[in-house]
Amino acid sequence: MANDREEMLMTWLRDAHAMEEQAEQMLSTTAERIEHYPSFKQKLEAHLRETQRQRDVIRACIERRGGDTSTIKDLAGKMMAMGQGLSGLFVADEVVKAAMASYTFEHFEIASYRSLIAAAEAVGDVERARVCREILVEEEAMAAWMAAELPTITAQYLQRLAMDVEAKH
Ligand code: MG
Ligand code: FE
Repeated sequence: MANDREEMLMTWLRDAHAMEEQAEQMLSTTAERIEHYPSFKQKLEAHLRETQRQRDVIRACIERRGGDTSTIKDLAGKMMAMGQGLSGLFVADEVVKAAMASYTFEHFEIASYRSLIAAAEAVGDVERARVCREILVEEEAMAAWMAAELPTITAQYLQRLAMDVEAKH
């Protein structure tokens, strides 16, 4: 039924909104803590600004389709499993764990938007599909940056360890 498809699209838009709220939290917490890895810190801050815009865009998609956004925050708990970036904050290799968590989270976002685009197309919602495709481009760019930089961040961490200077974050 068309109605079921529209309900699933709304559910997934709400999930995406919760995901972006969690991304915002992870990115700001991690960016604040990083001290000795300036390019990673700057990239996290830049993607934080993109993420806040994505969150607003998804919220507008929900409203545009007639959804209620007042209870939206309650859904954030669904993403708890992805919150492992935060649990890495107090380990000695914090920056490496944070980079791995960022890499993982971006790929989860890519999967979510690929699915969401198909769901929007299935109900003929061309505008929501287009908006999700724009977000997907940003997530892919961040994922590509993380893929390229994860080895560099790891090497820098090991170098700082070897020099016996503060390496953790
Ligand atoms: Mg995002
Ligand atoms: Fe992202």
